[in-house]
Amino acid sequence: MADQENVSRSTTLRLSEIFASLQGESTRVGLPTVFVRLTGCPLRCTWCDTAYAFKGGESVSLESVLEDVASHGLHSVCVTGGEPLAQTACLPLLTALCDAGHSVSLETSGALDISAVDPRVSRIMDLKAPGSGESARNRFENIALLNARDEIKMVLADEADYDWAKARIAEYDLAARCTVLLSPVAGKLDPARLAEWIVRDRLPVRFQLQLHKVLWQDARGR
Ligand code: SF4
Repeated sequence: MADQENVSRSTTLRLSEIFASLQGESTRVGLPTVFVRLTGCPLRCTWCDTAYAFKGGESVSLESVLEDVASHGLHSVCVTGGEPLAQTACLPLLTALCDAGHSVSLETSGALDISAVDPRVSRIMDLKAPGSGESARNRFENIALLNARDEIKMVLADEADYDWAKARIAEYDLAARCTVLLSPVAGKLDPARLAEWIVRDRLPVRFQLQLHKVLWQDARGR
């Protein structure tokens, strides 16, 4: 325990923001959740809506992040970015949040190795479709590591992206492994069209819209 406390004090994270809101995505949608947004991302998706988290933020101790999270009094915590796994200290943070009794999810790009993530964490992992401009970064080896606790998310900009997603679902039998989420890029792909394609093809996925955008558009801290 003393060792764990020392780790918490000496481990530093680059933090963009911590805030309480409703979870806007995944099967946890609608749950009051504390978001821990870490700074930095090695990708540059064309439709990224959190570019403000690429840089800046402040250096904080893991211990102070835990205190801040606890002050919100919520069970559900989502560690997001940016790409949180780009910081090595993300791994001890995830473990410490689980140890503190939280139900923890991690939003990750799918470009980095997820193998060392605490097994208690629900990994919400992107697969980047071609319209993102970052499709070459997909680390497909990650797929074999996913289990029923995890979810795969694909954000689609057009019909070519949808066809790509459909092919990956078949190629890796993704729906047998975990929940698969398909979302339209806001302002680029009509959500109703994506919904119709999914029903037409009887695709074994969940359609989702980003709840926080419906409620608050692109406001930060929401
Ligand atoms: S991985 Fe996420 S944070 Fe990074 S550029 Fe893509 S959408 Fe933005």
